[in-house]
Amino acid sequence: MSHPEASHVRILIVEDEVKVARALKEGLQAEQYECALAHTGEEAFFLLNAEPFDLVLLDLMLPGRDGLEILSAMRRQGLDLPVLVLTARDTVEDRVRGLDSGADDYLTKPFAFPELVARLRALSRRGRSDQTLKLAAADLEMDVAARTARRDGADLDLTQREFALLEYLLRNQGRIVSREMLARDVWQETGRATPLDNVIDVHIARLRKKVDQGQGQKLIHTVRGVGFIIKTNTEAEA
Ligand code: CA
Repeated sequence: MSHPEASHVRILIVEDEVKVARALKEGLQAEQYECALAHTGEEAFFLLNAEPFDLVLLDLMLPGRDGLEILSAMRRQGLDLPVLVLTARDTVEDRVRGLDSGADDYLTKPFAFPELVARLRALSRRGRSDQTLKLAAADLEMDVAARTARRDGADLDLTQREFALLEYLLRNQGRIVSREMLARDVWQETGRATPLDNVIDVHIARLRKKVDQGQGQKLIHTVRGVGFIIKTNTEAEA
């Protein structure tokens, strides 16, 4: 089945393994995406500077400059299109490093093709209409425009900071958010002499109380030594 929203979305696939690259290209073309292939970082840069793309599908394991180097260089150049990172290295450090270097999402190899298509669809929507204003995880709902949040139908009384924190966690649902990311994106204080870790932990604790206390299903989880994640019981363990 084709998805009309995918038409005219141009994807640059950066993958050195010819067979894998070709399979991705064929699969995505069957989903009505327009695709171009780059087998090296240099080729990727050349194409990104020569043609407009809506999305980049970036393998981390590349000869020469690896995917993370390419990603950092892209962001330094001001190329801000969404990037979905493919990684065979399923470690938390790589995931966080990938997101810190400017990846919008990542997928661990091997992955199911429909999962890839779902992620790309989400990313291309995000890129197009900026940001969605209604967020949800299980029975937690957030209306960003109305500044309201509800759990199981009951209003949550959140401070501005807690609201911003919850919004950020929800926008990154299913992905680990590091304290560094929260300091940068929610507190917007990166140049501080002392890290915000304790402040962040206090706010998370308060937020968790309001969101999860008395609920059968906990949504805000701590990933020890790394950060936090909002996930529902139905989502696979990270
Ligand atoms: Ca590769």
